[in-house]
Amino acid sequence: MPNPSLLILPGDGIGPEVMAEVRKVIDWFGTHKDVSFDVTEDLVGGAAYDAHGVPLHDDTMAMAQKVDAVLLGAVGGPKYDELDFSVKPERGLLRLRKEMDLFANLRPAQCFDALADFSSLKTEIVSGLDIMIVRELTSGIYFGEPRGIMDDNEGGRVGINTQRYTTSEIRRVARSAFELAKKRNNRVCSMEKANVMESGILWREEVQWVHDNEYPEVELSHMYADAGAMQLVRKPKQFDVIVTDNLFGDLLSDAAAMLTGSLGMLPSASLGAPMANGRPKAMYEPVHGSAPDIAGEGKANPIACILSFAMALRYSFDMPQHADIVEGAVEAVLAQGIRTADLLGEEGKSPVTTSEMGDAIIAAL
Ligand code: ATP
Ligand code: MG
Repeated sequence: MPNPSLLILPGDGIGPEVMAEVRKVIDWFGTHKDVSFDVTEDLVGGAAYDAHGVPLHDDTMAMAQKVDAVLLGAVGGPKYDELDFSVKPERGLLRLRKEMDLFANLRPAQCFDALADFSSLKTEIVSGLDIMIVRELTSGIYFGEPRGIMDDNEGGRVGINTQRYTTSEIRRVARSAFELAKKRNNRVCSMEKANVMESGILWREEVQWVHDNEYPEVELSHMYADAGAMQLVRKPKQFDVIVTDNLFGDLLSDAAAMLTGSLGMLPSASLGAPMANGRPKAMYEPVHGSAPDIAGEGKANPIACILSFAMALRYSFDMPQHADIVEGAVEAVLAQGIRTADLLGEEGKSPVTTSEMGDAIIAAL
């Protein structure tokens, strides 16, 4: 078997700083576990604009289409605010998402015990929490036609958006959710508003169809999204994988993020269709941005990016044991009380630097 291939795009701001810590983890696997990755590193965002005049070079795009997974840091920063829209750093990211056709956005909400008191909820509600929200990313009300602000013929105006989902759009994201559930705890809860929306009725029918015809062994339940929002805050541990549309997923994944604490802890993934080897096209990235306010100061928390790599191990490289090792090391370091500044709150303790956090995770490995 060839080594798994990984394209690393550190990007801008704190992106390169947190990615340097991921490189330590990758090197550790090579030295201690005899697991090697074919790593290519390239530019994206403002860094690519500075070098090539475009936020993503065609060669980089071609490489992204070939590799088993892309790992991205962050793009953008004040230096690029005045650029023309067509070459803004964010356009590099959008091009990757669009050309790789990454239609399923994965946001885990995972609570590390040592941070359970950091959550906005009671410790017993979140401790041990480990759920995954799969949000449809390329269709639905954010893209449906007709849309626009028009005259309403009565002297006023009307704002219009259209929620529209096709059978194939629903089925493909449902398949992503069922595949993930098989690698986790075998349960999927689908959320829509089939009580009031036609697209919700179709959503429920098609998810059920995929279940009955392709994944009968996975447990499937359906919930109205408003009830789901309540349950997510009341008793989040009842869920394993939640699959939902673009709009509801946007809201539910942000709510779920706050179950667990800091932006510096949150990984994400975006998945597309299966490639020839059966694995989905995939890009992994921390939820946070380039954080220009702390860039270059060694203050960034590298854990979100390291956990994004752990997701790649689990979902792109079929190495769940290795993902467990990385997540276990993060848990151990947090249990030792080691904290970057974003995890300290009001306490009088002194924070570690980005690089010290990376070194502590290596030591725990
Ligand atoms: P973008 O538009 O790229 O999302 P943003 O400014 O909206 O950028 P972030 O870059 O994520 O959002 O930053 C939001 C806040 O969170 C900033 O104060 C930043 O310093 C902080 N922050 C983000 N990521 C981290 C991290 N990894 N470690 C520590 N603090 C972080
Ligand atoms: Mg932002």
